[in-house]
Formats: sequence, C-alpha cells, structure tokens
Amino acid sequence: MDKIAVGKNKYGLGVFCITALKKGERILDFSGPAIVFEYPLSQYQNEGHAVQVGYDSYIVPQGHGYYVNHSCHPNAIIEAVTGLAALRDIDPGEEICFDYSTGMDEDSWTMRCLCGSPHCRGLIKDFKYLPPELQRRYLQLNAVPPFVTVDIPKVA
Ligand SMILES: [Zn+2]
Repeated sequence: MDKIAVGKNKYGLGVFCITALKKGERILDFSGPAIVFEYPLSQYQNEGHAVQVGYDSYIVPQGHGYYVNHSCHPNAIIEAVTGLAALRDIDPGEEICFDYSTGMDEDSWTMRCLCGSPHCRGLIKDFKYLPPELQRRYLQLNAVPPFVTVDIPKVA
C-alpha cells in the first residue's frame, strides 16, 4: 500500500502521509516527461510543478510527485536529484513538503509562499538567494542537487 496519498489542503491539492514515515525513508521519486529550458517554461502552464534536474533540464512529474507542495519549514528533502526523502519522522495526516529553493537554480521563476511557517520567506527564489545559514543546513543534509551548487562558495 502506498504510504502517501493526494489530498486537499487549505489552498489546493497536496501530498499527505497515510502510513508513518521514518526519518530518512524515501517517500517518492520524481519521474515524468523531460523538458528543457529552451522550451519556454514561462509558456508551460504547470511550470510550478516542474522539477529541475539539471542546469537547463526539468521533468514534469507524474503521479504523486506532481502534487508535492513547498514549505519554508519542510519535513522532506530532495535526495539524489530526483528523489524525496523524509527529513524527520512524519505522522499520518501530515502534508509532505520540501523547500523548492533547494532544487532551484534558474533565475526565471519565483513563487509567493503562504506556507504559514514562522520561518516563511514570503517569496521563493533560487537556492543562491537563501540566507547563508540555511544554505549551510541544506548542504549538510545533502539536500541540494549538484547543478544548484556550482555557483555557491564551498562551506566548511
Ligand atoms: Zn513559506
């Protein structure tokens, strides 16, 4: 049985835990048709759902992956570019979210955030614009795909 399901949150659809997930557990893999940046993303209706997987390449996830929302205080992180893993134990009923900024280096897309976290940044932008201490935390968690970090100074 799937441990996750698509359900409704305050703003629309999201992915929810239905069977407890352990910290570190793989939740899902993003997979679907590949698109490249030259295919104008701005004309692509569902750009916000596209997952960046390389410097100029994206996939439009099929299935659950399509509905995973952003949070500035996430309970999941990107793992090995196209996976999503639990950042902590997640209980049934919790919505599964990751920080979209961890997988973004594109300078073409931002999103207003209404995640409601006290840590909410208000506007979601590329990883390079995150506060340094947050960058460091995500880098230590290994949550940042390599194509995102090419411009980021190495941190100890
Ligand atoms: Zn937020």
